[in-house]
Amino acid sequence: MVPSFVKATAFNTLHTLGIHHRLRNRKLNTGQVTVLCLHKVSDEKDHFWEPIRPESFELLVQYLVLHYDIITVSDIDRPSDTGRPRVILSFDDGYYDFYTNVLPVLRRYSIPANHNIVSAIADGTQQMIWTERLNFLFNYFLEHRIQARLEVGQSEISLQGAGTLDQSYIICLRELFKLDPAARIGVLDGWFRRFSADMPVPRMMGWEEIRVCARHGVEIGSHTMTHPILTSVADPQTLVAELQGSKAVLEENLGIPINILAPPNGIYDARVLGMAARVGYKYLLGIGESSGRERQVDGVTVLSRLNMISEPYSHMVLRIEEVVHQLKRLIRG
Ligand SMILES: [Zn+2]
Repeated sequence: MVPSFVKATAFNTLHTLGIHHRLRNRKLNTGQVTVLCLHKVSDEKDHFWEPIRPESFELLVQYLVLHYDIITVSDIDRPSDTGRPRVILSFDDGYYDFYTNVLPVLRRYSIPANHNIVSAIADGTQQMIWTERLNFLFNYFLEHRIQARLEVGQSEISLQGAGTLDQSYIICLRELFKLDPAARIGVLDGWFRRFSADMPVPRMMGWEEIRVCARHGVEIGSHTMTHPILTSVADPQTLVAELQGSKAVLEENLGIPINILAPPNGIYDARVLGMAARVGYKYLLGIGESSGRERQVDGVTVLSRLNMISEPYSHMVLRIEEVVHQLKRLIRG
């Protein structure tokens, strides 16, 4: 692995050389639409998944406003008439900080966005996304210096203080991914009981906030009913409920058509894509190394998004311009 200071120096040099401007011009020539995927924008502390800070988000928006036309997902089918490259700001999960920290910025700069909602959380039948619970628990282990052994799936994970917690977190995440949704919830419930950790207070948007977002240029999509890993949902009826059910609940509560599906964690396969087409979605948003329109399957336009993380401004810019991905392509020839 490349040491972080080497990576930082290389990124700063590339940024100083202005490589991102050249790569942006390439997008103009190819008509590539950049699609960015964001989650939390907040000052909240989370060692295991640091949110993008509100000041960084505003800098990101300023960069995009200067160099791009910011469009919605459904605008992708319309030709650009300004001669500038296009970008989509896409958000997942429905965190409340979108309402407090993102929407005011979008309104100030008069720009649209897309936000994909977990419908069972919006209507209060589910409180939190499982990854959020795992993060909360690991922050609790860190804060209380918990030393213990955890069992998940076939693995036994040892918590031995701050130094190894990052690694244990990754193993837990990987093992929990493999379980079916009910088993995953069972494991997490067990850990909360065992360590007497209080359940965190979820800060997610409800219908009222989502309606305000929709009224102010935020194109709402579905992030399923309960946020499972869709490829691990074996039962066809459950898959229909996750895809068609969430679409129906969102449409009923918001009074607008829902055409966008963002599979949780960007994970889907041909079966999920086929079902998305059958229940009437027009766009499916994945996550990948590069972004933009990938293909069209049974009337569904598949887009790939770049996952944005908390990092210095110059790194964020290079990520948007896909510098690492383009360098890899150059090296591979
Ligand atoms: Zn999600």
